[in-house]
Amino acid sequence: MENIMFIAPPAAGKGTQAELLTEKYHIPHISTGDILRDIAKEDSEVGQYVFETLASGNLVKDEITYKLIQERLNKSDCKNGYIIDGFPRTLEQAIEYDKILKNLNYKVGKVILIDIDEKILEKRITGRRVCENCNSIFNINDPENSPEIESVCDNCGGKLYQRKDDNLEAFQRRYSTYLEKTKPIIDHYKNQNVLYTVDGNNSVEKVFEQVEKIINK
Ligand SMILES: [Zn+2]
Repeated sequence: MENIMFIAPPAAGKGTQAELLTEKYHIPHISTGDILRDIAKEDSEVGQYVFETLASGNLVKDEITYKLIQERLNKSDCKNGYIIDGFPRTLEQAIEYDKILKNLNYKVGKVILIDIDEKILEKRITGRRVCENCNSIFNINDPENSPEIESVCDNCGGKLYQRKDDNLEAFQRRYSTYLEKTKPIIDHYKNQNVLYTVDGNNSVEKVFEQVEKIINK
């Protein structure tokens, strides 16, 4: 199977689509966040550095992140395809990723852009409620996902709360950063003829159908 990369704005359902692919096609879901968290547990110089950097809320140096990504992708479970998540986030990183692929003798595979209306994202984010007890996620703006009683968890009866970043201002800030940083990445992959677009304004199942059509092409 070819490698897969998703590009999508916040709350577009990228993580869910990646999970569905992992389950159905048994290919690893490689997230840079996970790579860093795993390394941070290791008793090594780089592990120590990453641990301290993450703990202090700073960003891990790019060169180190690139090296760790390359090492992770070089493991045997990635040889038959993988889904890369959370990387690249900037054009500079996309160019760096091209180098990593070249070093490993891999191809970028298929890059799937989840296209979705800003208004839908807004509703998803501002309606999101999380159970403080069991972490179940609901959405008061989505009849299929709304809790029986607003502010009470259907699963455990715990209290639901709104995460600090799940408000309109924070969303708009993240969304404009996304547009600004992502436009050049989209063009980068368009130029390589590897970019595919799915309509994200649909249910999870409908989006997944489109994704499967693309990967089975
Ligand atoms: Zn709960």
